[in-house]
Amino acid sequence: MQRVVVLGSTGSIGVSTLDVIARHPERMSVYALSAHSRMEQLAEQAAASRAAVVVVPDDAARGRFLAAWRGAGRPPEIRVGAQALADTAADAGCDTVMAAIVGAAGLPSALAAARAGKRVLLANKEALVAAGPLFMQAVRESGAELLPIDSEHNAIFQCLPHGARASAPTEPAAGVRRLLLTASGGPFRRADPADLEAVTPEQACAHPNWSMGRKISVDSATMLNKGLEVIEAHWLFAMPPDRIEVVVHPQSVIHSMVEYEDGSVLAQLGQPDMRTPIAYALGFPDRIASGVPGALDLARLGRLDFEAPDFERFPCLRLSFDALRAGQAASVALNAANEVAVQAFLEGRLPYTWIARVIAAALEWQAGRSSVTLGSLGDVLALDAEVRAYAGNLAVA
Ligand code: NAD
Ligand code: MG
Repeated sequence: MQRVVVLGSTGSIGVSTLDVIARHPERMSVYALSAHSRMEQLAEQAAASRAAVVVVPDDAARGRFLAAWRGAGRPPEIRVGAQALADTAADAGCDTVMAAIVGAAGLPSALAAARAGKRVLLANKEALVAAGPLFMQAVRESGAELLPIDSEHNAIFQCLPHGARASAPTEPAAGVRRLLLTASGGPFRRADPADLEAVTPEQACAHPNWSMGRKISVDSATMLNKGLEVIEAHWLFAMPPDRIEVVVHPQSVIHSMVEYEDGSVLAQLGQPDMRTPIAYALGFPDRIASGVPGALDLARLGRLDFEAPDFERFPCLRLSFDALRAGQAASVALNAANEVAVQAFLEGRLPYTWIARVIAAALEWQAGRSSVTLGSLGDVLALDAEVRAYAGNLAVA
């Protein structure tokens, strides 16, 4: 019996994860859930899944959770605060942790799960972008099992040679030439750049293929999401940046590919539903039902299209490759500045086109400072906070 902690259970990935878990009562159960807001939804989830523990951000949220509790029996144990989140991820009561909090806020708990040697299902790509070296070192040292949830990385993981599916490789898998990350191109793939200035959060969040949380939806529109995924692939698969290629594929049917030395290219295909990668990781190495309805109907699709990414139209993609090549501090800056800018955009305080400008300015600012060591979680969080303060000043403009 696999006992699962779902961090960020009220989010898009969290809800899909609970859906898959509920389909397999004979092999997995929920140990703990966490959420930052939406205590009513958390209370419903906790009652339905019979979670033993929930983690909430503060005492006010604890009160709202209890007020919303309609479960049959006693409410679960309620733990409060960020430290409780990390402690629960490392709790002896669980074997598997779904890290599905959005943003660098999910880093400490994801890292705690890795350090505790859990099976870590990693949706939270920002954790790897901000702290790739620390995170992968923790996986290596603890013997944790790391399974990528991001659909592209999950696809690559599926296409790698079986023996090369180590949790934290130190070099690229033998025989692999390149990783080909597919990208839908988002809602503005063909938009006139002149029209982007006036883009609203609703337009940016209207992804053509995937239904996701608002932050990652905006990231998909700017293609910063693909940039974060390039950095994520670099750490997960020990792949140098120049062997990671982005290819735009508007239908999102091929989730990514692995190109081998012999010229073979292996792809993973499927419907755009995150329950497939989630079920793959929860069941690994077995294949289990995901609840994704129907089958991929290729004849009905008729065609799959591909094109090269446009680095002019999507400056955030170029900035991400720049940051990856510049080093770890630049990756921290890229991610933190983006989180601040996207938040400001979603709150109507920043025009869409300024997201890339804020990131570019933060990267320049970071490059002009004396080098920092990022040897610990504290170092990473300190730099993250500094960049947020700097970017926050720009984002009120
Ligand atoms: P979401 O916004 O729908 O949900 C985020 C969850 O995190 C919620 O449960 C929320 O309560 C919690 N949360 C937010 N801020 C928090 C904080 N400061 N502290 C603790 N908890 C907090 O996001 P999502 O779309 O489910 O994405 C989650 C993660 O998975 C992101 O890192 C995203 O990049 C990644 N991801 C998502 C998808 C997708 O299809 N949605 C695909 C690939 C990767
Ligand atoms: Mg993805």
